[in-house]
Amino acid sequence: MKQETRYFRKGFGLKSGIQPELRRDYHSALVDRIQAREGLLVVHDLTLRLAVEFGFCYGVDRAVEYAYETRKKFPGRKLFIIGEIIHNPHVNRRLREMGVGFMSDAASFEEALERVRSEDVVIIPAFGATTSEMEALARIGCIRVDTTCGSVLNVWKNVDRYSREGFTSVIHGKYDHEETKATASRAISRPGSHFLIVRDMEETECVARFLANNGGASAFLDRFRPAFSPRFDPDRDLDKIGLANQTTMLSSESLAIGARLKQVYLARYGEADLREHFRSFDTICSATQDRQDAVEGLLESGIDLMVVIGGYNSSNTNHLAEIAADRVPAFHIQDALCIESGERIRHKPVGEQAEVTASRWLPAGPVTIGLTAGASTPNNKIGEVAERILQCRNYRLEEACP
Ligand code: SF4
Repeated sequence: MKQETRYFRKGFGLKSGIQPELRRDYHSALVDRIQAREGLLVVHDLTLRLAVEFGFCYGVDRAVEYAYETRKKFPGRKLFIIGEIIHNPHVNRRLREMGVGFMSDAASFEEALERVRSEDVVIIPAFGATTSEMEALARIGCIRVDTTCGSVLNVWKNVDRYSREGFTSVIHGKYDHEETKATASRAISRPGSHFLIVRDMEETECVARFLANNGGASAFLDRFRPAFSPRFDPDRDLDKIGLANQTTMLSSESLAIGARLKQVYLARYGEADLREHFRSFDTICSATQDRQDAVEGLLESGIDLMVVIGGYNSSNTNHLAEIAADRVPAFHIQDALCIESGERIRHKPVGEQAEVTASRWLPAGPVTIGLTAGASTPNNKIGEVAERILQCRNYRLEEACP
């Protein structure tokens, strides 16, 4: 008897069947219209300038499509997803409405597993899952639909190589982010291999100081706990390092971290032996890079302020806001409802966790507003924000310059 396939990662060929639903849930005619006019919407003295690259990336597009296809393919089965498919509240809410259970709602992954049976279907999100989570699902024997993005798989391939060749993976990322946890688990796929996660340049300088001083292991471990592998010994395990990234980090910071650590290892081992102790490769995905470059482009075009749309827990959206906030007033908002009026806007300031309310955010008179959205933000949420900004001025779309 033919064995039923239990692991899928290439789609079900149902794309045309789900297109009407995807269009209904995420499409925006207004965004299409702005794009057709070279990213500009001009209404009287208000100009909205949309970034050249914004919103859903190829990995998110694929993951969302695959989740919709999964619902169609297995209509009678219980459907679960390990955690958020992407970091956008609207997309996740839509999946819940489609009957997908979120395992992350349980107190722990182990507790969530108790509800999963072999006949059920579990979706792995675009960020991937840890090796132990994947093994636990395989033991249950449930159907697994893996939407892990190809760019994330590329990072895993590289950290696996580091592990095979005896290098400790130094990962620029956030240790509690799903993707970084999944990557870290691949970095220790062999006995004796290790990882260390550095969040930013400040932590990179701690690594540089430790290597320069040749000592202070216990203070080092206290500083980085819990962002390293079990039994990690900095005296031993930083001798050979390979760099990797969470794909959605600020690319300029990733490059600076790579350059700084290379400088440290060059001083320590010399040019001739550098490759024996230091490896790196470019792991910022092109979609993240393109969106960050597009914000730079908007800033250079002379905007007065920037509105960045996306989930507050979306790493790549936060970084877009960070780039903009260095140069102009920038407002990271979750959706159009955050714009209460031309006077008041609720937004998440860069580096903060909580939303705050700002007043007088929209200046009177002629103004050019840059608009962008993270890789997990659907176009309809961008279109709603554009319309809301117009409403704040009592302008109507019909009054827009052709
Ligand atoms: S941001 Fe990059 S790595 Fe993440 S899902 Fe999109 S394309 Fe893939």
